[in-house]
Amino acid sequence: MPLPKSLRRPVRRTSSASAAGTSRRRRCRTCNNLDPRGHTNSIQDAEALKEPKASLNLVLDALALSNVKPTTNGTCRFCVVLVQALDAFFSEWRGSRCRVNVNIKEKGTIKLSLDGGQWAGQMVEIYAGSASRTPWPTLGAAHHIPVNAGSDESFNFIRRCIQGCLANPKHTACKVTCEPSVSAPKRLIDVGRSTKPIRILETQGKAFQYIALSHCWGSATPLTATKSSWAKLTVNIPFGDLPPLFQDAIIITRQLGLRYLWIDSLCIIQDSIRDWETEAAKMASIYQNSYVTISATSASNGSAKCLSDRQKPIKIPYENTTKKEFALRARVYSNHHPDANGKPATPTGPLTLRAWALQEHALSTRVLHYTSTELMFECRTSYRCECMPERKTRATTPALIPRAVASKQADAVWAAWHRIVEQYSTRALTMPGDKLPAISGIASKIRKATHSDYLAGLWKSNLAFDLLWQRTVPTPSDGDFHALETWRAPSFSWSSLDAPVTYYTPDDDERETCRSSITLVSSTVIPTGLNALGTVSDASVTLRGPTATATLSGRYIRGAWEYTLTIKGTSAIQIAHDCCLVKAGVISDANEEQWTVRRAKQNQTLSEFEAPVLCLEVARYDDFISGIVLGLSEQKPGAWERLGTFAAETESLRHTKEKDLVLV
Ligand SMILES: [Zn+2]
Ligand SMILES: [Zn+2]
Ligand SMILES: [Zn+2]
Repeated sequence: MPLPKSLRRPVRRTSSASAAGTSRRRRCRTCNNLDPRGHTNSIQDAEALKEPKASLNLVLDALALSNVKPTTNGTCRFCVVLVQALDAFFSEWRGSRCRVNVNIKEKGTIKLSLDGGQWAGQMVEIYAGSASRTPWPTLGAAHHIPVNAGSDESFNFIRRCIQGCLANPKHTACKVTCEPSVSAPKRLIDVGRSTKPIRILETQGKAFQYIALSHCWGSATPLTATKSSWAKLTVNIPFGDLPPLFQDAIIITRQLGLRYLWIDSLCIIQDSIRDWETEAAKMASIYQNSYVTISATSASNGSAKCLSDRQKPIKIPYENTTKKEFALRARVYSNHHPDANGKPATPTGPLTLRAWALQEHALSTRVLHYTSTELMFECRTSYRCECMPERKTRATTPALIPRAVASKQADAVWAAWHRIVEQYSTRALTMPGDKLPAISGIASKIRKATHSDYLAGLWKSNLAFDLLWQRTVPTPSDGDFHALETWRAPSFSWSSLDAPVTYYTPDDDERETCRSSITLVSSTVIPTGLNALGTVSDASVTLRGPTATATLSGRYIRGAWEYTLTIKGTSAIQIAHDCCLVKAGVISDANEEQWTVRRAKQNQTLSEFEAPVLCLEVARYDDFISGIVLGLSEQKPGAWERLGTFAAETESLRHTKEKDLVLV
């Protein structure tokens, strides 16, 4: 009979006395001889693995380590290894008052990082140069990463990844079929052959196997297709005229044995709004159907390369007690692997900060990330990277939406949409007006799966929970975050602001009991152009739900603006405000002046205030309610604009009045 859950102990400490054994006397009190075992803080995962492995996190004082000289005379040889790695990768660490984090795993590599602003996010990995000859038994080796992304070794890695996906019958999610006449890109770049020139061709609805590029445009516009340059581009594009990044994309396409490449700036006529809108609306299928998407993750613009050199690992000489010499290695490490809890891999680089690139990543069936340290491959089923070349069936970003859709659970699709919007809202746009277009490819997938109507970033079928987005906990430094100068989206949509947002994620019990408190009476969304999921020129919803009048007060406390709500008969509730707020006067229908609250614009002076607002209960959980705070609209008399969200005990909103409200 298995042990009851409560009695299982997933983590236990190793017995320090027995593991340390006779060598305890010679153990360095600073670094524990870089051995994960035998320390009072050693932990051992006894449940999860067949072979229990120890791990140890040490937090060392940089000032104390600074005194270690890089010679072994009289000092601990393991501390010397640490300082040599620190000297090589963290300039000016010596003498600084920071902490050195050392993570040691049995048969694994040692990870080093420093707590301190200038080194934030930097990590270094120390490992054995050879798996068959490790300098001490607990240290593991690491996979060799080729020194150039354009090396034969790297191309062989890519071929293995793609073939592994295409040929594996278990990769059912990766087998995508689409009607080429509808979804094929209108144009492709023929990457040429020895005698044939590089040129752009019209696909005329025929199916082609092609590679797509996802890249940062940067401030300098790369070679683009325009009405005037178009004729020339269809005849011959000299290789030397292409920016380095596009040259690399052509080399990769040829190396993978393909003939066609899709690059937005060359395959969409940039000065034709009509062309741009029709092709942008096909974005989802263009990336989904590409043989593989090249993600130029580390390139900040077209003049950077993706087939570039990687920083070589350094050698750290090491001599054991019997004077045997070994070579240790150390290299830059980024924490990029997907985890077993469903968090996908996290490539880092300028491209991962760009709004447009998120859907190019999430919609592709196969993606190859060219990061500054290594290549990472994701498909809808598995993950590999050059430091972990064996295939892992782990969560990937391309799998996020297909997996939610395949589950046939509406909740799973809405949760996937929320995760996407959360990620998307942290990214930057060059053109502020692209906020809705740059996510419209993903929206088209969600619409197809749910048949729900799209309301400028929200879904009719999940309206209550979509309305409850919140600006990510404001920090004192963004204390005066303002509304946009020009109207872009209705205030009830997250797309009305340029700020990271989050959604409340109920736990399983709450999900069972939560329910919407509102009904949608009507809605209007007027798209500006051809893309029904793109920019809007007007949008509003009429909701029926329980409302209560309240007083909102704005106070400047400890360097930040705080807004509290007082609903009759209850104590004050702090709201999550969308941005800084101001008190404003309006003329009512009865021609009387009354006060309300609005989102503050950049040029408005902020001051403390108290003014009436309206609270709308949006959803009810087991023991609390969530709602939005509204002020009277300036643009549309009688309509309401969102100011923030609130959560309160069920008791707080006992005396509500059912009302129909127009939200803009
Ligand atoms: Zn030591
Ligand atoms: Zn696959
Ligand atoms: Zn890796």
